[in-house]
Amino acid sequence: MATNEKVDVVIVGAGASGSVYAAVLAKAGKKVVLLESGPDWQLTDLISSDIWGRRVKPAGIPFLLEGKNPYGYAYQAGWGVGGAALHYFANFPRLLPNDFKIKSEHGRALDWPISYGDVAPFYDRVATDIGVSGDAKAEELWRPAGAPYPMPPMKTFRNGEIWLKGFEAAGIRMVPAAVAMNSTEYKGRPACIYDGWCHVGCPTGALANPLVTYLADARKAGAEVRPLSTVTRVLTNTQGTKVTGVEYYDDKKQRQVQEAGVVVLAAWAAQNPRLMMNSATDKHPKGLANASGLLGKYMMAHFSSGTWAMFDEDVQNHMGTVGVQFMSYERYGKTSHPGTFGSTYITCGSAMKTSDLAGFANARIDLFGHELHAFMQRGKRGLTRIGAFGEEMPNIENRIEQASDKDEFGMPLAKIIHSYDQDAIALWNANFEEGLKVARATGAKEVWSARGNMPTIHLFGGTIMGTAASDSVVNSYGQSHELPNLYVAGPGIFPTEGASNPTYTIFALSLRGAEQLAQKWNTVAG
Ligand SMILES: Cc1cc2nc3c(=O)[nH]c(=O)nc-3n(C[C@H](O)[C@H](O)[C@H](O)COP(=O)(O)OP(=O)(O)OC[C@H]3O[C@@H](n4cnc5c(N)ncnc54)[C@H](O)[C@@H]3O)c2cc1C
Ligand code: SF4
Repeated sequence: MATNEKVDVVIVGAGASGSVYAAVLAKAGKKVVLLESGPDWQLTDLISSDIWGRRVKPAGIPFLLEGKNPYGYAYQAGWGVGGAALHYFANFPRLLPNDFKIKSEHGRALDWPISYGDVAPFYDRVATDIGVSGDAKAEELWRPAGAPYPMPPMKTFRNGEIWLKGFEAAGIRMVPAAVAMNSTEYKGRPACIYDGWCHVGCPTGALANPLVTYLADARKAGAEVRPLSTVTRVLTNTQGTKVTGVEYYDDKKQRQVQEAGVVVLAAWAAQNPRLMMNSATDKHPKGLANASGLLGKYMMAHFSSGTWAMFDEDVQNHMGTVGVQFMSYERYGKTSHPGTFGSTYITCGSAMKTSDLAGFANARIDLFGHELHAFMQRGKRGLTRIGAFGEEMPNIENRIEQASDKDEFGMPLAKIIHSYDQDAIALWNANFEEGLKVARATGAKEVWSARGNMPTIHLFGGTIMGTAASDSVVNSYGQSHELPNLYVAGPGIFPTEGASNPTYTIFALSLRGAEQLAQKWNTVAG
């Protein structure tokens, strides 16, 4: 076993959240090492093909899945430098003020220890750091005013525009979607060419993935990225008062120790608690930072209610981006749909390919043979879809636990146990009903709901933020209550999830946490 020379910061995971910490701390003059279990992907590895695209999707150690609605992590997670954000769709809605105070306003779920106003300046900063296209003024229908986005909205196509009549009939105002993509050239990166291959990674750099944004900044400022390096434990001092570094297995599967003044866990909402549980000691017998017993608890997912519509005309469904063209917070109030509870975020207009998740071949899973062939003939030009993301409330029974089986490094596998409650199911159904109303009002030839097993999209919780060690794992900066030089980043620190896609908020919270760490360095670092 080799022990590497102590560095200022070791970051576990080179994805969305880890790259922000790396950029801020390397620019602040800290010696930063990122340990990443997957390969060192480059833009040239991103090939616009559904077959080749599978190379960059999760590989490696599995999670065990239990509960009534098992969590479909394989599509959600990332693997390799850039993380899931290497091949995300870059939809960039933000949370709204009501997301931060559900308990105060409705007497249920959890409040955040901070408000929208604490995060808002970081949303604006992230937008200029990485490039966001959209119309901030239009969004102010639903949120407080902020800075304009640095780029105008993206181009729209018939597959998005054709829905606007239906939304108007349902009283749902749609505005240009905020996306982390270039509608114009931005900071030396090209404008989007609207070929719709975002889901396997944008090879041109028009989409703001970590490789071309924060990770590039971090590397320029001297951060070192060690790919194929899997962290298995966070190490602590004998008194159990500070972390001292991490144990990991390198590209030759040799055990190594990387000592550091600060450890940042940025390995995503499922892996961070697994690592913290595996780092238990006699001083932290239930896992690190787990005095509250809440480590691994309150896991949450989004569910979406999609609606398909087939038109007789060419709706240009191959054109655009996989990120959406229009969005709405019109049903974002927690009680917008009678008899349900939780926010809904509505979207329309994304490019479609033949197969894979965004593919029209999967739009009628009941068809086979000649019928499927005939459907695809019509669908290749006439088919389009809208989506409504729903919010699941935090439920302590939805959790991550250690399993008895172990991986190749001797680390226990983790189970993700997940079931939706009646509120989530009711909201899912209400959004399908509304989707059909919208679709019928477009004058489409055929409309139907994209129903299957209730989906689990994005993952939150497990290391939630709060005000004290008794009610949460970390504070609002991601700093653990019990071990001041242990930080946790990513969607795991959200105490409630809202209905918006998470990554804009992940970037904003990571920027806030990393800057606080840089400012308080002398009192925090071990
Ligand atoms: C297909 C797809 C589409 C998406 N679309 C959107 C979207 O439109 N908008 C949006 O907001 N979000 C979207 N997301 C979600 C978004 O990508 C994630 O929310 C975000 O990347 C999570 O950030 P993170 O830093 O927590 O994790 P990641 O970005 O996944 O990074 C975690 C990294 O940690 C590494 N790691 C894990 N365990 C270890 C270990 N033990 N040792 C070392 N390294 C480890 C992983 O390999 C990974 O690279 C999408 C995701 C997918 C997969
Ligand atoms: S549509 Fe635009 S953002 Fe998506 S892969 Fe193509 S160029 Fe990149």
